[in-house]
Amino acid sequence: MSEITHNIQSIKAQIEQFNAHTPQQTQLLAVSKTKPLSAIKEAYQCGQRLFGENYVQEAVDKIQQLKQDSQPDNRYEQIVWHFIGPIQSNKTKLIAEHFDWVQSIDRIKIAQRLNDQRPTGLAKLNVCLQINISEEESKSGAKQTQMFELAELVNQLPNLQLRGIMCIPQKTSDPELQNKQLQQMQQLYLSLQAQFTEVDTLSMGMTNDMQVAIENGSTMVRIGTAIFGARADK
Ligand SMILES: *Cc1c(COP(=O)(O)O)cnc(C)c1O
Repeated sequence: MSEITHNIQSIKAQIEQFNAHTPQQTQLLAVSKTKPLSAIKEAYQCGQRLFGENYVQEAVDKIQQLKQDSQPDNRYEQIVWHFIGPIQSNKTKLIAEHFDWVQSIDRIKIAQRLNDQRPTGLAKLNVCLQINISEEESKSGAKQTQMFELAELVNQLPNLQLRGIMCIPQKTSDPELQNKQLQQMQQLYLSLQAQFTEVDTLSMGMTNDMQVAIENGSTMVRIGTAIFGARADK
């Protein structure tokens, strides 16, 4: 069995084990940034369907190459592509054209552009608002206090479908601080869900905090390193 197959199976087993104690089901998003197409194909082969990418040009190259490699039997057509990286406004067109989800919306200008540039004929673009839960200056993401305003505006854009919120918590070795951030996210998520019935996604948890994130209500973990191995810094 290949390394990637082995990793995916063991992570899925862990998720299932953690979900045995939680009301929600947690999906696995495989974060394939900087990794080659062959790694994505291997993951697909063992049943992985949700993939996340951070860098627009790299992602679009992969998506297009995979489309070609799918012929003649549409082999990879079930892939669902999530954009999870920071978004510059000059990149929104490519994102709107190639992705199924965008998890890193943190300002209305970006949402508006994605809406306007979503090609007719494609399904609505599913979106999550990225929340800067630790309120660090250097991090992207909207402030907690801006969430509802942003959600209201996104909800009025016809080509976007609001699905939930995403965060990258501050790295910390303090379990209390870690828990506090995750619990805050869960509270925000529940309050958003109370107002917008189609909200069903709390995207949190990465390789190093998968378990606590699931225990705090995560419905989608985004895992790179534990599936594909360490990344060279970009
Ligand atoms: C890279 C990345 C991940 C995956 O992180 P790992 O620690 O490798 O699991 C998840 N979410 C976002 C937004 C990322 O940029």
